[in-house]
This record gives sequence, C-alpha cells and structure tokens, in this order.
Amino acid sequence: MDYQAVLEEVAAHARPYVRQGRVADYIPALERVSADRFGIAVADIHGEVYGVGDWEVPFSVQSISKTFSLALVMAQSHGGHDDGIWRRVGREPSGTPFNSLVQLEAENGIPRNPFINAGALVVTDRLQTLTGDASTSMLHFLREESGNPDLAFDQSVADSEAEHGDRNAALAHFMASFGNLENPVPSVIEHYFWQCSIEMSCRDLAVAGGFLARHGLRADGSRLLEAREAKRINAVMLTCGTYDAAGEFAYRVGLPAKSGVGGGIIAVIPGRCTLCVWSPGLDARGNSVAGAAALDHFTTLTGWSVF
Ligand code: GLN
Repeated sequence: MDYQAVLEEVAAHARPYVRQGRVADYIPALERVSADRFGIAVADIHGEVYGVGDWEVPFSVQSISKTFSLALVMAQSHGGHDDGIWRRVGREPSGTPFNSLVQLEAENGIPRNPFINAGALVVTDRLQTLTGDASTSMLHFLREESGNPDLAFDQSVADSEAEHGDRNAALAHFMASFGNLENPVPSVIEHYFWQCSIEMSCRDLAVAGGFLARHGLRADGSRLLEAREAKRINAVMLTCGTYDAAGEFAYRVGLPAKSGVGGGIIAVIPGRCTLCVWSPGLDARGNSVAGAAALDHFTTLTGWSVF
C-alpha cells in the first residue's frame, strides 16, 4: 500500500469539507485555532509514519484522551470482563450528547460508557486512585508511546475549561452522590481537564495509539494490554467513540474511532495501522466534519474497514 499516495488523495477529497463545521467555542481557549487546518497521519504497526497537510501541528486532544485513560486503567488492573471498572461504567452507546446528564439519574449514577464525559470522569477517578496522579501518568505514557518527549499540557486550555466547567462538575457531583467516585470531585475534574488539554499532533496520536492496532503491544514490544483487552477498547470505540453519531460513523467509516472537540479523530485498523485526522470544524455532535469525510474516503479507497 502506498500510504503517502492514499493520504494525498484522501486530503484532496476532504478539503472541501474543511470549512463546513464550527470550531468548538464552549471552551473559549479552543476557539483560537484556525478553522482552515487539516492534517492526517497513518502509523503502521511497525512504527512507520506517513502524513499530509498539518499532520505535525499540535492540537488539543480533548476526548481522544479518554481512549488512553481507559487503556491505562485496564492495563493497571488487568481488566477483563470482571474488572471493577465495568461495575462503575457501562459499555452501551448512549444515543445522547457527550456531556448529557439525562440518563444518569435513572441509571443510578452509572454512565453508559467510558467515552461520554460522565464515563470518562469515572475512568479518570479510577486512574487517580491507581496512580496518585492521573493526568501526569497519562502525559508520561503518551510521551513514551509517541516517542515525543516534548508533549505537554496546555495550561490555558485546562484553565479555560475549568472556568467553564459547570457541566462536567455537575456530572461529577451527581455521580459522587451515588457513591460512584473514589476521589473528591475537584481533584477528579481537575485531572480530567488536564488530560483533555494535552497537545499532540496527528503524527503523535497515530503513533501513540499503535498498541490498539498491535493487539495490546506497546511501541517497544512490551505488553500493555492483553489482546482481548485491546479488542474490547476497539469495540467500545466503534460503538461509543463518536457519541450519538457512532452509528452513522460505523455506517460511513466502519472503524473503531475516538473523536475530540479539538477536531481530532483517531481510528484503528487492527493488525495494520492507526490513523489520526485533524480539522477543527465540528458537526452538531462534536465530531470533525472534514475528519469524518477523510476517514470515510480512506476506508472506501483501501477497503480496510472492519466490515
Ligand atoms: N474536555 C471536553 C469536555 O469535557 C471534552 C469533550 C469532547 O472532546 N467531546 O467537554
């Protein structure tokens, strides 16, 4: 496969979509990014990386971080189907927006899945208990896995989200009222905002997500997750990784994927490669418009969807 040629064709296809979405502004610091950006990268399972456009420009990973927090919790607790985290968070699509509160009361403070905000707060809470410093342990993991020691938090984004974080604070307090948090709410939401503020490029994210394509093996060949655990994360990405658009995304793209309101999306082709695409314009559900178009075209061109 000539990855470079495929990416160039994909980028040309996605270009007209780049200005169609809206850059997230509910976290004011995210609004500074130009809507014109577009980049895409592929990292194969051997670590070769290819990219076009703005593929080396760092952006705010936001909810893509939820994939890594779940992986770290599963890795640390050797989670299988009986792992404790799955008693505190489900694995069904929510069909509701990523920051919705509506299901939580009827479902006793147990979020539908780890990729909506409520579920991710539970996972960060668990990572905090396991590591004593959830966001820093994630940053260190991402530096190692991406091979980029310069990865950092963006304090202005973390502060901006904290200043406008009433919705996430409400989710966390509500779950705490059901006894579904182990740590104090202020600490959980602080670590969650920090993990979301990490800046990475398409290159960094495609490489760092390689363990999902390598059935749980890290870049250095050591094992992070059992193959069945990597399979489970990929499955939850497919069914829940793009929120209430996960059905549409599976229909169009057919790959495990995780999006973030910074405009990034990572996608996994198990056994082959990990992709990351970035373009900040979002659709109404918070997914990158040009990013979805690019992944749609990539799987159409290559025939490499899981279907
Ligand atoms: N930090 C963002 C939030 O909690 C992440 C949301 C997202 O990327 N979908 O609202």
